[in-house]
Amino acid sequence: MNQTDRQIGIEEVQSFEIDEFDFVCNVNIAGKQHIYPDQVEPKRRISFREIFSDASTADLHQSLIEHVRLTSETISYPYRCDTETHCVFLRAVVSRTSSTRVGFLNKMLGYEPRPADSRLIRKYVTDESDFTMCSICNRLEHDERWFEFQQLVELQLWPANGKEMRCSFHTCINCATSINQRMAEARRSFDSKMI
Ligand SMILES: [Zn+2]
Repeated sequence: MNQTDRQIGIEEVQSFEIDEFDFVCNVNIAGKQHIYPDQVEPKRRISFREIFSDASTADLHQSLIEHVRLTSETISYPYRCDTETHCVFLRAVVSRTSSTRVGFLNKMLGYEPRPADSRLIRKYVTDESDFTMCSICNRLEHDERWFEFQQLVELQLWPANGKEMRCSFHTCINCATSINQRMAEARRSFDSKMI
């Protein structure tokens, strides 16, 4: 990681664990332990569901955690976490880290700058949104299709001038299907070991 990466707020590795009561613990960003070291009683514990901006993404990840707890299989999937100026591509690896905990390790695979004239400026809203954004791949829904932000600009569905976009969040069908498929594969692998 170089100076520029830090300046734009992109971290290479980030991880956290979920304890047996579904609370977030042991958060690490770029090798440094951040909030809630185990020894310190946090002011307010954050439940796993609270870290998601919508119920569908929370439900999907809740089933992912329960799946990993049950099977001890590791599941990994790609996702995007865009900033105003960059598209950041990451991979999440979800695995059992102890008898009671499930770990989420987020590795950065790469990033690319957005074209200078199509900066994404989002505002999270719960109603009257301009677009619904997928919490996993950051695509935006228009007429029941999912587009990259730049495509919306190219199709003139959104101005390129950095107008603030009011977004609500959901999971797109592609991301839900692909995570469900990974769980089904892991389940088959688990079942085959049980025979
Ligand atoms: Zn998606």
